[in-house]
Amino acid sequence: MGLNPVKVPPQSISSPGNLHAPVHLFPATLKETPSEAQIASHRLMLRAGMIRQASAGIYTWLPLGLRVLRKIETIVREEQNRAGAQELLMPTIQSADLWRESGRYDAYGKEMLRITDRHDREMLYGPTNEELITQIFRDNVKRYRDLPKILYHIQWKFRDEVRPRFGVMRGREFLMKDSYSFDLDFEGAKRSYKAMFDAYLKTFKRMGLTAIPMQADSGAIGGTLTHEFHVLAETGESGVFYDVAYDELAAKGEIDLDALSRLYAVTDEKHDPTAANVPPPERLRTARGIEVGHIFYFGTKYSKAMGAVVAGPDGTPVTVEMGSYGIGVSRLVGAIIEANHDERGIRWPESVAPFKVGLINLKSGDGACDAACEDIYAKLTQAGIDTLYDDRDDRAGVKFADMDLIGLPWQLVIGPKGVAAGIVELKNRHSGEKQELSADSALAKLIG
Ligand code: ATP
Ligand code: MG
Repeated sequence: MGLNPVKVPPQSISSPGNLHAPVHLFPATLKETPSEAQIASHRLMLRAGMIRQASAGIYTWLPLGLRVLRKIETIVREEQNRAGAQELLMPTIQSADLWRESGRYDAYGKEMLRITDRHDREMLYGPTNEELITQIFRDNVKRYRDLPKILYHIQWKFRDEVRPRFGVMRGREFLMKDSYSFDLDFEGAKRSYKAMFDAYLKTFKRMGLTAIPMQADSGAIGGTLTHEFHVLAETGESGVFYDVAYDELAAKGEIDLDALSRLYAVTDEKHDPTAANVPPPERLRTARGIEVGHIFYFGTKYSKAMGAVVAGPDGTPVTVEMGSYGIGVSRLVGAIIEANHDERGIRWPESVAPFKVGLINLKSGDGACDAACEDIYAKLTQAGIDTLYDDRDDRAGVKFADMDLIGLPWQLVIGPKGVAAGIVELKNRHSGEKQELSADSALAKLIG
C-alpha cells in the first residue's frame, strides 16, 4: 500500500480559531425578506448575514456563513481521511489541452467557463477534475504495489449553470469535495467505492442530516455502482422514490451498500414502476430531495484515454480502474438549513453551527450585567466553546429575534434582575425549552 498516512480519529469540531474578544458580527442582520430569495435557506442566509451575491450564482461568504462552510469542510475532511483518502489541492484553472486528451473539451458544452490567457492559450475554470487527477496519477504512479489510492481535494468549481438559483444550492461558483480512486481491478474499485459510500453516510450523519443514497444507474458501464445522496426537503429539485424499508433499516442503523442494492431508491429520472424491486404502492415513499453527493465508478474511461497505466504483478501494463466521489460542500450549507429551520430562523445542528452559544446581554452598559457577561464569555471561550456575544445597545426584543434568526443551538441570557439574584436563563433553540439556573450550572452544562 506504500506510504499511507496515519489514520487520525475524528476530532472535535472546534472552530478554526476562537474570537478572543467580544465581537459585533459583520454585517448586521436584515429585517426585510430579500425579494430575490424563493426558498427558506436562501432567505435565511441573506437575512442572517451569511452570504451576499456578487453576481448571478456567485457569492461572498460573510463571517457567519464562512464559519459554517469551514465546519462542514472539516467534517468532510475528517471522514475522507478516516476512509484512507489523501488530501491534495489542484488548481481551479486548467489547460484546455488536458481536456482534449479525454475528449471532454468539446463535449462539455456551455457550462464550462473557457478562458484565454495573454499568449492565446486556451484555459478553463475547472467544473470537475477527472482529467487533472488522472494526469497527476499517470505521471507519478507506475507500480501496482502503489495501489489502491484515493486522492481528494476541496476546491472551488465553476459551472456556468443556465439557471443559477436558490442561493448557494445551485450556484455557478461552488465549493466541492471531489475524490478519485485508483485500483488495479474491479474488485479493488468496488472496495474503494464501498469505503466512500460508508464515509458519505457518516459524513452526512455527523451534520445531522439523513441523506438517502439513491441508485443513479445510468445503464452505462459500471452497472449499479453509482449513487446520488439526497437530503429530503420540500424544496428539493429532484423527485425521489424509495421503499419505506429504507426508513426502517436506517432507524436500526443497518444501511450499507449491500442492503441498499436490494432496496428500491431512485430519483424521478430513473423511476421505473415496472422494476423488479419496486415495493407495493403503500410501501413506496415519494418525496423531494436535494442532491448533496454523488459517487460514481467509471472503470477505465479516463485512464484508458489518458494512459494511466501501472506495471501489474507479472510486469504487463494494467490500465487502472477509477471512480469519482463528489460532495457539494457549499450546497450543504443550504441543504442543512432547509432541513433545520422554523418561522423564526435557522436551528443549527451543533456540529455545524457557526457558534455553539449566543450570549445575550440584556442591559449593555450596566456595570453588573457587563461584568457577569464578560466573565461568562471568558470562561466559555477558554473552554473552547464558540460563543457569539451580543453586547449591542439595543432592545431585548431585537436581540432575541436576531439570535433566533441566526439559530445558534444555545442562548444564554443575562439581565440585571438575574444578575442580582445570581441567575441566568439558558434556552435551547431547537426545543425552545428555557431554564433558569446559576451561571455556574449553565457553564457546566455548556462546557460539559
Ligand atoms: P446537479 O444534478 O445538482 O446539477 P451534478 O450531477 O451536475 O449536480 P456532480 O457533478 O455530481 O453534480 O457534482 C457533485 C456534487 O456537487 C453534487 O452532488 C452537488 O452536491 C454539487 N453541485 C453540483 N452542481 C452544483 C451547483 N451548481 N451549485 C452547488 N453545488 C453543486
Ligand atoms: Mg450528479
